[in-house]
Amino acid sequence: MKAVVYTGHGGPEVIRVQEMPAPELGPSDVLVRVRAVALNHLDLWIRRGLPRLKLTFPHIAGADVAGVVERVGSAVASVHEGQEVIIAPGISCGVCAACLAGEDNMCAQYSILGEHRHGGLAEYVAVPEANVLPKPARLTFEEAASVPLVFLTAWNMLVTNARVGFDDTVLVWGAGSGVGSAGLQIAKAFGARVIAVAGAGWKLQRSRELGADEGINHREQNVLDEIRTLTNKRGVDVVFDHVGTATWDTSLRALARGGRLVTCGATSGAEATTDIRYIYGRKLSILGSWMGTKRDLHHALRLVEQGRLRPVVHAVLPLEQTARAQEILERSEHFGKVVLRVE
Ligand SMILES: [Zn+2]
Repeated sequence: MKAVVYTGHGGPEVIRVQEMPAPELGPSDVLVRVRAVALNHLDLWIRRGLPRLKLTFPHIAGADVAGVVERVGSAVASVHEGQEVIIAPGISCGVCAACLAGEDNMCAQYSILGEHRHGGLAEYVAVPEANVLPKPARLTFEEAASVPLVFLTAWNMLVTNARVGFDDTVLVWGAGSGVGSAGLQIAKAFGARVIAVAGAGWKLQRSRELGADEGINHREQNVLDEIRTLTNKRGVDVVFDHVGTATWDTSLRALARGGRLVTCGATSGAEATTDIRYIYGRKLSILGSWMGTKRDLHHALRLVEQGRLRPVVHAVLPLEQTARAQEILERSEHFGKVVLRVE
């Protein structure tokens, strides 16, 4: 089969389009003919290399897949050939205490499609039956591929961890990113007031179209000053952070008493200084999210099916242009998801 592989760790030069063996199908697995794959920052981290990540090259990345069931293993009962599906990107053992409690992202065996195993940047991908969900009928394949990773992560951050509600003001960093555009909509769906932060006026305009109540341009405005003005000096109840070094200090200082900082990533760097007095003096909570549970995804999908949450697709490129697509992500030229079409 045709696949996009990394030949080693490094820059865009390690990306190749080449033939790879089609995945083997276990009795509980489903073989999906890939139609669309959405990119994530995770694909870039995997390409560049991560501590403790040991890959065998050539490696196929790609966590967010929509496609059509090509074949099912002998023990598979819940899906059938020809069905249009999306794939939940977190793969776990299914039988440990964490999995059985519905906390599959706490499983010791947890892995992400395209990280510890071959992913979806190919004509075919094989995953366990538990990871295959019906594609929402209202969505195209490109839109459907844009849902799983960012919506399950943003749902875990805001709903499961931060318990966002109508009484909250939520600051969303990087509102133009995939996870930011999902978080913004989820916070609005729960009735919160949303302050979107982005680095360009057109991104703030798009954020408002998605429901953001306020917008701050971090390249032109002082984020903390703006938040104080917008909240009558009170601060926000929830900060939605995935940026890391560049935002951490402002995130903590932006919080009102009893506020919650929820983080799922550190795209700008992982080191930061924390003034501990803020944490106890203002009774703050710092919450970490790593992906989300399958329940989080099922819940988010219900609102996607109702049209109350919608994936935002910035651009669709052919699979062969994966390097260009990753460049869009690296340069933050996007609002929403960058998707590769597989034909
Ligand atoms: Zn498990």
